Amino acid sequence: MEPPLDRSTTWPYVDGELGPFHYARNAHPVGVEAERQLGVLDGGEALLFPSGMGATTALVLGLLSPGSTIALAQDAYYGTGVLLSELERWELRHVLYDQTGPPPAGAELVWIEAPSNPLLTMPDFEAAAAHPGLVVCDATAATPVLLRPLERGCDFVLHSATKYLAGHHDVLLGAVVCGRAEHAARLRELRTRTGIVAAPDAAWLLLRGLKTLEVRVARQSETAATLAGRLAEHEAVRIVRYPGFGGLLSFDVAEGEAARRVETSTMLIVNATSLGGVASTMETRHRWEGGRVPAGLLRLAVGLEPVDELWHDLQQALEHV
Ligand code: PLP
Repeated sequence: MEPPLDRSTTWPYVDGELGPFHYARNAHPVGVEAERQLGVLDGGEALLFPSGMGATTALVLGLLSPGSTIALAQDAYYGTGVLLSELERWELRHVLYDQTGPPPAGAELVWIEAPSNPLLTMPDFEAAAAHPGLVVCDATAATPVLLRPLERGCDFVLHSATKYLAGHHDVLLGAVVCGRAEHAARLRELRTRTGIVAAPDAAWLLLRGLKTLEVRVARQSETAATLAGRLAEHEAVRIVRYPGFGGLLSFDVAEGEAARRVETSTMLIVNATSLGGVASTMETRHRWEGGRVPAGLLRLAVGLEPVDELWHDLQQALEHV
């Protein structure tokens, strides 16, 4: 059972001394339990943040200094690059690199994503781990059910818990899982000082989501693999990107207008952004990422609907190409 949803911001001292909880910016019971469970799943020490981007912000501000360089996988979630560009004003630099090979020398932090959203490339973990810098793996699309980056030589795992971990498109949440206690202590200190703290309600919804994570991800993977195979055979589809596991895939039709017609023609699959929920979502990514992705690229995040109903929906939408 989840702990009760305690929304308190303050708890009485115990005999005039600090008890286990005293002020919610430091820690609150639901958050601590959600972090415990996520830490077990990833094999490290987890810290929650109010969103995936909040987690990324805390991580780079907490671990790096002005003048530091981040080697960022060029395929990583486009918002990560947007954030790091924002932080250039504070002298935090980043260089893009191809994560299927070794990261460039001279970076204090290496940022990989497994698999990347929406191009679905996988990083070279060995090459990243051999780099002298700290290594972060954004494993949002894999989840700890399918990948445990700390066991592959990474120092941190980053999750947008908004996606598969919470799983129902109803909570914005992020997490960093640390392999080393001193890193977790530094991030906890920064979190309390800056107030980039996840609320108890969000943490409680994560606890609810974690109960079904394994069955959801197994089913979404199975369905996505079947759909990837069928899409690859479809005459209107130019290319399918699928790493062989997980619920996320992308495919291209001939050009942007055709992709727009496909995304607006589905009846079961929701034409919306985000991924990792029980309801399937699909969208063209050009609207967000511009020239980073082909204009005809559609990203499909598979939910829990029956595979044949999803396939039927895709087939009829692809008639509009
Ligand atoms: N990382 C990945 C791979 C994502 O897909 C996203 C959001 O789409 C984020 C990080 C950012 O997470 P949030 O939207 O929870 O801030």
